[in-house]
Amino acid sequence: MDAGLDKVDAIFEKETAIIDGVDISGPWNRMFKERVIWEYTPELIDKVADLPGGESFAWCYQCAKCIPVCPVDMVGNYGPRKLYRMAQTGTDLHKSEELWLCTTCANCLRVCKKVVDMVQIMPAVREQAVLDGNVPEELQKAFEDTAKFGNPLGQGQRKRAAWTKKSDVPVPIMKKHGQPVDVLWYVGSYPSYHPRGIDAALAAARIFNALGIDFGILGPEEKDDGDTQRLAGESGLFEMLAEHNIAMFNKYEWNTLVVTGPHELNAFKKEYPKLGFDRSALHYTQFLVQHLDQLKPMLKHEIKATVTFHDPCYLGRHHGEYDAPRELLRAIPGLELVEMGRCRENGYCCGGGGGGMWLDSFTQNHTTMRLSERRVLEAVAYGAEILAVCCPFEVSRFEDAAKSTGNDQLKVLDILELLDQSMRG
Ligand code: SF4
Ligand code: SF4
Repeated sequence: MDAGLDKVDAIFEKETAIIDGVDISGPWNRMFKERVIWEYTPELIDKVADLPGGESFAWCYQCAKCIPVCPVDMVGNYGPRKLYRMAQTGTDLHKSEELWLCTTCANCLRVCKKVVDMVQIMPAVREQAVLDGNVPEELQKAFEDTAKFGNPLGQGQRKRAAWTKKSDVPVPIMKKHGQPVDVLWYVGSYPSYHPRGIDAALAAARIFNALGIDFGILGPEEKDDGDTQRLAGESGLFEMLAEHNIAMFNKYEWNTLVVTGPHELNAFKKEYPKLGFDRSALHYTQFLVQHLDQLKPMLKHEIKATVTFHDPCYLGRHHGEYDAPRELLRAIPGLELVEMGRCRENGYCCGGGGGGMWLDSFTQNHTTMRLSERRVLEAVAYGAEILAVCCPFEVSRFEDAAKSTGNDQLKVLDILELLDQSMRG
């Protein structure tokens, strides 16, 4: 309820009012006197806007353009306009559970004329909440596991390259390799440890070998990139991980840094440079598309299926890459690519960004369904038999969502797996 209501007069209210057969008697037709903005409290807006990074929160002029594009609003009640209004009417965002629902997907930023930037605002407020100890338990666990083990899955650092033992092709580990490489492949936490992520990593290793790429991985010297922890409010942990990874990148000689995941791409291209890292990075789709002429003749086996592609927020909106994944998919013979309604710039979010990956139980109490479930329903509605992804967060999220929505027939595959299948049959 509006905090300002007690300060205004309800000047129009008919006890009985029926219009076109619709009964709008009593409070349903209540109208208020026009009132000026200082009847609302600015303090809680200032509390956000005064934080470094939080400034743009105060620029919102309540146009509501952000609401229809917010993926959380589609399964709940959310969006920058609503958060601003809540702060204006008495909600302290620092202490509110709403603070943890934004996935930093940037779709609101895309349409906001005032450039209200949740990608900056959310980490700024969350950082303060983390310092105050107001963190959902499951997110705190991911922070602690990352600090202790170097990855949010809580797996041993020394086992980071254990997946390579399953590989039927060589995967050189830089420390043992002892020579410069053309491509340093940053594998990432989920492809190193999660069973479905490992499937994609094994496929990538086979593709790199088939293309004759001179590559190496850091293995046990690699730690989580930390960017998602930063967006979830743990900037100290992010800096610790970044310093470690930058030191490892600088330890070896290489020409191109290739990453499996869009969140790592964001870390290395946008955030690590603030800490002194002066090289760039490519997402694997961007790298492989440069080798498409060489790759195409190797894609010998048809994959006869209707496939739709989910644009990862941090590859698409955050880094403007929409074409490379599609070009790779179109190169696979037999495959029919169909687009979902929410794609490319307006792509729907899987719910894993900004810490959402580690907040599924928490968000369940605030939404009618998970974002990943909403997306799976969309893929099915468009007739997809396969949902193709290229972010390591997504395979497990969408596979779970396919099961929980009763759509087990929908296969979820990384583009790496599809390319590998087409190469090997
Ligand atoms: S689009 Fe921007 S200005 Fe408009 S309501 Fe949303 S945050 Fe506010
Ligand atoms: S960044 Fe995405 S999830 Fe967050 S408020 Fe904006 S549209 Fe919603």
